[in-house]
Amino acid sequence: MDKLIYINGEWVGADLAKIVVRNPATGEAVGTVPRAGAEETRRAIEAAHEAFPSWSRLTAYERSAYLERFHDLIVDSADEIARVLTLEMGKPLKEALGEVMYAASFVKWFAEEGKRVYARGIPSHKAETRMLAIKQPVGVVAAITPWNFPAAMITRKLGPALAAGCTIIIKPAKQTPLTAIMLAELVEKAGIPKGVVNLVTGNAAEIGNEFMTNPMVRKVTFTGSTEIGKELIRQSADHVKNLSLELGGHAPIIVLDDADLEKAVRGAVASKFRNGGQTCICGNRIYVQEKVYDAFIAKFAEAVRKLKVGNGMDPGVDIGPIIDRDGYEKIDAHVKDAVRLGASCVLGGEGRAENGAYFYPPTILKDVRPGMLIMREETFGPVAPVQKFSADEEAARYANDTPYGLAAYVFTENYSRGIKLVEALDFGIIGWNDGLPSAAQAPFGGMKQSGIGREGGIEGIDAFLEVKYVSVGL
Ligand code: ADP
Repeated sequence: MDKLIYINGEWVGADLAKIVVRNPATGEAVGTVPRAGAEETRRAIEAAHEAFPSWSRLTAYERSAYLERFHDLIVDSADEIARVLTLEMGKPLKEALGEVMYAASFVKWFAEEGKRVYARGIPSHKAETRMLAIKQPVGVVAAITPWNFPAAMITRKLGPALAAGCTIIIKPAKQTPLTAIMLAELVEKAGIPKGVVNLVTGNAAEIGNEFMTNPMVRKVTFTGSTEIGKELIRQSADHVKNLSLELGGHAPIIVLDDADLEKAVRGAVASKFRNGGQTCICGNRIYVQEKVYDAFIAKFAEAVRKLKVGNGMDPGVDIGPIIDRDGYEKIDAHVKDAVRLGASCVLGGEGRAENGAYFYPPTILKDVRPGMLIMREETFGPVAPVQKFSADEEAARYANDTPYGLAAYVFTENYSRGIKLVEALDFGIIGWNDGLPSAAQAPFGGMKQSGIGREGGIEGIDAFLEVKYVSVGL
C-alpha cells in the first residue's frame, strides 16, 4: 500500500523519499508514505490559508452537511479502515473497529455542535451602546497526532476545527500514517472543498517547526508526549501561537474497601489493558485499601489471566504487540526496576522480542512502593502495579503525587467517600466506577503537565474559536 500526501485537493509527493510503515506484530512492511519536509508543509499551509475565507463563510449548516457526509463514509468504510489500523498499529481488530466508530462519533458530534456556536448579547452600562461577544474561527489549524489512536486523535481535532470554520493541516505519527491517509481519502470523497483539509507525512521536527513558525498557522493542536509538548510550548513563544496540548498521563486507580470488587476488576482491566496499556488515560498504578487488597489482587489476576496476547488480526486476541523497541524497552525497564526494589510478579513479567516484533504479556506486580519508576513514569504497556494504602486521604495524596493530571479512577459504592475523593484529585478526567470514561460529548484533557485545553464536548469546539467583543454605538 503506497500512499501519497494530500495538499490542496491533490495527491502528491510521489517524487519524495519514502517512509516504510511496518506491522508491529510481524515487523513486515505494510506500505510506504512520502517523507515530506518544510517545503511541502508550507504548500499545505498556503492551501489551507487560501481555502479559509470561503470555508469560514459557509453557514454552519453547510459545513455540518459536509461533516455528516464524512461521518457516514467513515462508518461505511469502518471495516476496511480498522484492518489497516490493526496492520500498522497492532491493536486487536475488534478494538480497531471500536476506535473507528469512536472516531466517527467526533465527526457526528461536532457536525451537530457547529450549529450551536452562540454569540452573546451583554447588557450595556450606557444607553447609547449595545455590546456583543461573537465567536469566529481561529483560522488555519495545524494538528499533530500520535500513533496510539490513529483515527480518533485525528477526528477529535478535525471535526471541531472544520465545524468551527477552520481549515487544517494534519501531521499523523510516522508509525500510523495509513489510517490517517484513508481518512483524508474520505474527506475528498465527501466533497469537502480543496485546501480545507491537507495532510503531510514525513520529518516531524521539520514539519513541526514550519507549523510553529509560519504566521499563517494560527493554532497548533497536539496530542503526544509531554516532552514534545514542552518543546512546542518553547517554540510557540516567538509567534504567541495558540496551542492546545493533550500530553502524557500517569493515571491512578483507587479501590476503596467498600468497592464492588467485580466492578473494580472490570474497570481496572478495561482501563489498564485496552490498547495493550498504550493510552494516555490508562491506569498506570493501582492503589487498593488494605482490607480488600488480597481479594482484589486474586480477582484481578483471575480476569487478567484470561487475556490473550498475539497478532491483532487473529480472532480472540485481547492484547496486540507493543508499538516498537523503545516502547518495549521502557516497559521491561519498569518491571525490572520494580522487581529489583522488592515488588513481586503475580502474573507475567517477561516479554518477547523477535524479528522486529515486540510482545509483552499482561503483568501484575504487587507490593510496589512509591519510589519505583513505574509509579512515577508513564509505562505505556500492559503492566499493573498494585500498592496497598490505609486511609482515604492517603490514597488522594499518593494519587496526586505526580506531575501529571490527566485521568484518575475511583472505585467505591459510597457516594460521600467517592465525592470527597473526586474533589481531592487533581485530574481532568475521573472514572468513578467506570474504566472507560472517554466519549465525544465529554470534555477530555489534563491538568498540570498533562496539557492545556480540552477536546470533545462543548469545550472541544471552543478551542477552534476566537471570541470577538463588539461594542456598537447607536
Ligand atoms: P510518542 O511517544 O507517542 O511517539 P511523540 O510526542 O514523540 O509521542 O509523538 C507524537 C506526535 O508528535 C507524532 O506525530 C510525532 O511525529 C510528532 N513529533 C515528534 N517530534 C516532534 C517535533 N520535534 N515537533 C513536532 N512534532 C513532533
